Amino acid sequence: MSKLKSNNKVCKWYQVCPIKFFVESGKLDRKWVEEYCLINNKDCKRYQLEESGKSHPDNLLPNGVIKEDLF
Ligand code: SF4
Repeated sequence: MSKLKSNNKVCKWYQVCPIKFFVESGKLDRKWVEEYCLINNKDCKRYQLEESGKSHPDNLLPNGVIKEDLF
């Protein structure tokens, strides 16, 4: 049942998530992907909104804060 969990540590949205691109381009600290994306942390606000089909801006951080100067 929970086999999926061990095979699936990275968030399923990672490849298309703007947070990944912001980190790769040096605009965001790597801690965001380490603390959320790479461990499939479902506390991520982006993840929760994505799952419930609610739109959210690209500059919404995993902790729910909108970073105004991020684009
Ligand atoms: S920011 Fe959230 S939704 Fe995006 S890849 Fe990371 S954990 Fe997933």
